Amino acid sequence: MTRAERIKNTLQKTKQRRKAQRPVVYELKLQNLSKRKTEALRKAFLEAKWLYNWLISDAERLNIPANKVSIVDVKIGDTYEQRELAVLGSQIKQEIADRLKDNFRTLKKLKENGHKVGTLKHKRFVNSIPLKQYGVTYSLDFARNRVRIQKLGKFRALGLCQIPAEAEIANAVLVQKPSGYYLHVTCYLPKNSHGSQNPIGSAVGIDFGVNSKLTLSNGLKIDFEVRETPRLKRLQRKLARSQKGSRNREKIRFLLRKEYEKQNNRRRDAQNKVLAFLKLCDAVVFQDDNVKGWAKLFGRQVHSSGIGGLKSRLRASLETAISVNRTETTTGECFVCGKEHRLSLSDRAIECSCGWKCDRDVNAALVILRKGLGLDPEQAVGLDRPELKPPEREAAARILGSSPYIRVSFPQ
Ligand SMILES: [Zn+2]
Repeated sequence: MTRAERIKNTLQKTKQRRKAQRPVVYELKLQNLSKRKTEALRKAFLEAKWLYNWLISDAERLNIPANKVSIVDVKIGDTYEQRELAVLGSQIKQEIADRLKDNFRTLKKLKENGHKVGTLKHKRFVNSIPLKQYGVTYSLDFARNRVRIQKLGKFRALGLCQIPAEAEIANAVLVQKPSGYYLHVTCYLPKNSHGSQNPIGSAVGIDFGVNSKLTLSNGLKIDFEVRETPRLKRLQRKLARSQKGSRNREKIRFLLRKEYEKQNNRRRDAQNKVLAFLKLCDAVVFQDDNVKGWAKLFGRQVHSSGIGGLKSRLRASLETAISVNRTETTTGECFVCGKEHRLSLSDRAIECSCGWKCDRDVNAALVILRKGLGLDPEQAVGLDRPELKPPEREAAARILGSSPYIRVSFPQ
């Protein structure tokens, strides 16, 4: 077999294997960095930027094998100066060039399909470096909690314990954030590695509202909101007052980025907890409506609750997620008989001539559940009333109760 045939063969085998796998990205933090290591990392991102901008300014340069490039021209003011690439590994340089080639190819394809595309521009910051080949550009040492990156050396890493033994480790990205340096490692796990242990074991419908953010068909209400901190507001005011182009302004900018990163982490953590709870259900049904439309109506409130993010993550990470078309009416419909009611925003409950009386959001969640499971009102009576079973109550208190940004209210 020739080399090209062998590569083709492995690619096909990988493709086959991926069908039974799902990708998971784990975030590792590089820890206890010495001054020398911090400097090397900072330099690596600077060199990555130099290389990127050098490659982009002349498309012919992409034909040169990037792993052989060791000196690039860097624009300083109006002139060009030569800089040496000292800390970037040869394969890493190649991968930066490959990523750029991919981007060019995508842009070309978009253009061919009639989309309006711009060109790739010079970057002021490069905040991620691709490390594609596990075992070559980077490797993980589980026993000693270390990661090794080509030419940069070994680093102590926090979070290696998240990666399960059966994971197949693929590529990684070295990421620079205001709070430090991270490695995002993509792994492939067997598709059925969770979901067999469902202590709650029933289907649940969710109504996404604005006031009490999530209402489940079992009567549970989950409200989560990560508001802007006073510190964030103070920094924004300071930035507005600072002089353009000054050092002080750059410093405030950095602090702001750091504060935003923290806020995103809090929001993500709250979302993770809601997702972890929902993963315990056999099926999760929600209405796929337009969150962007809400944001226009209600402004920041929707944004800070992170509902939009939660929905897309629900769709992506729960194999059990079912969505109901957003054109289906759910809020005014009686769960038991299907009769339409006109509810105004101030009506908190639905009361139907058939005898059904229920909280309006819980009713909506029940209707969503019924529609998601494809049942008619007559068939759905078996699903019956909102009811929170003791294991559900326990799981909700344990998982959701551990975040200060989540408020849970149990049905009376
Ligand atoms: Zn009714």
